[in-house]
Amino acid sequence: MASDRKVDIQSHRLSDDEYQQNFSDVKPALTAYQAHIESNRCLYCEDAPCISACPTRINIPSFIQKIADNNTTGAAKTILEANILGGSCARVCPTEILCEGVCVRNKEPEYAPIKIGRLQRYALDNFNPDVHPFQRLPSSGKKVAIVGAGPAGMACAHHLARQGHSVVMFDKKPKAGGLNEYGIAHYKMQDDFAQKELEFILELGGIELKPDVALGQSLHLDTLRQEYDAVFLALGLNKCKKLGLEQEVQHGLENSLEYITDIRQAQDLAHIPVGNKVVVIGAGNTAVDIACQTKRLGAGQVTLVYRRGVANMSATDKELEFARQNDVAIITWARPVALVTNKKHQLTAIQFERTQLDDAGQLRSTQEHFELAADSVFKAIGQEFDSQCFSGSEAPDFSNNRIKVDTDYKTSLSNVWAGGDCIHHDGEDLTVQSVEHGKQAANSIHHYLEQ
Ligand SMILES: Cc1cc2nc3c(=O)[nH]c(=O)nc-3n(C[C@H](O)[C@H](O)[C@H](O)COP(=O)(O)OP(=O)(O)OC[C@H]3O[C@@H](n4cnc5c(N)ncnc54)[C@H](O)[C@@H]3O)c2cc1C
Ligand code: SF4
Repeated sequence: MASDRKVDIQSHRLSDDEYQQNFSDVKPALTAYQAHIESNRCLYCEDAPCISACPTRINIPSFIQKIADNNTTGAAKTILEANILGGSCARVCPTEILCEGVCVRNKEPEYAPIKIGRLQRYALDNFNPDVHPFQRLPSSGKKVAIVGAGPAGMACAHHLARQGHSVVMFDKKPKAGGLNEYGIAHYKMQDDFAQKELEFILELGGIELKPDVALGQSLHLDTLRQEYDAVFLALGLNKCKKLGLEQEVQHGLENSLEYITDIRQAQDLAHIPVGNKVVVIGAGNTAVDIACQTKRLGAGQVTLVYRRGVANMSATDKELEFARQNDVAIITWARPVALVTNKKHQLTAIQFERTQLDDAGQLRSTQEHFELAADSVFKAIGQEFDSQCFSGSEAPDFSNNRIKVDTDYKTSLSNVWAGGDCIHHDGEDLTVQSVEHGKQAANSIHHYLEQ
């Protein structure tokens, strides 16, 4: 399909002040006074529901009470004992569906949960101990290889190093941190926080970081299994799912994660080119993130399109509300069927077909079509596990296209564990969930190494 429409993709759409304002912290730290008021609202419930709703089981009433007692150091230690990445989780956790979602203060007459996430951030932002809060046990003489230095890998490394094991953490990227460094929206994690948190973890000692090393290329699982006592795979999901349209590779069809990475790594946001008309295909938090970030880069019109209804979207209500606040239009019950290009083979529009559910609850087309002008179309329909990393080695078993593990995060291979987004699990793909996987896997690996 051809059109005469000129493509409008430009950098420098906004003033320096506008860029700064649009990408500043969306959830800034509480002041000492606000933290005092908020921590005193907590009822310090005995059988606190907020603890069970936290995947890492932070003793929330205990740390909040310490803040109320002006003991922020004690509060920070309580958080870090359960969740070594408590600082990033305080910034990125969808608390509305976790701890804050079950807080008893949600009830009448207040309908306002304790701001647990922001109190957690307050405690950790104000934590400047003279001595590192964790010490290593004497060396065990055991070596563990971790592949993937994202939240799961870092949490596992920390817990194993504490037990006296020597850890080498490999990552294919130049910087460690995983999606904390390359994927989380700029306005959620500022001031190089991912690298600061990593440095704090490395200060413990016993963890060697080897960046720019990719499993499946210069590094092989078979070799790691021979050279190390145990291996932990924390590879995340890094293959973008395809839209399934014939012209999949047209100029203008973008991979959301690559674009988000460019924004996160940009020295100057003004240099990032953005389309005037942007269409995002998807329904999860990545779709919302890319939609809001392109709008904040100065796109004139951003439309998010999803093949089912709002109730089926995996983005949380709060994320969808954030999208609406950012003037992102949301169209439901429509799926892409064709890309429209101009004579230069640049994408200019995208055609959709309206969808509906049939009596059996299956998604069906209605034969009704519409077109949206687009300078850029972003695929945000999910990430897949890329099993290429096991080429040339014996691979672990898979389940639902991810690595299969047992309840101890052990794979089908003798000395190999796995955790984080790359495994098949019941929970959501969240930072805090990956931290817990890394922690639990470290406990299991430690028991194995002690035998
Ligand atoms: C755009 C986006 C936004 C998100 N926003 C949020 C949010 O706001 N809140 C939230 O809780 N969660 C969010 N998530 C989810 C969260 O980031 C992930 O659940 C979490 O990062 C998973 O941690 P992980 O350690 O399993 O994997 P990752 O963070 O993906 O880390 C995997 C690491 O493995 C490395 N690696 C991969 N393959 C190889 C290889 N072959 N060799 C060597 N190294 C390799 C990668 O470079 C990477 O560093 C978001 C995800 C995306 C994609
Ligand atoms: S549920 Fe709410 S009020 Fe109760 S301990 Fe947790 S944060 Fe405090």
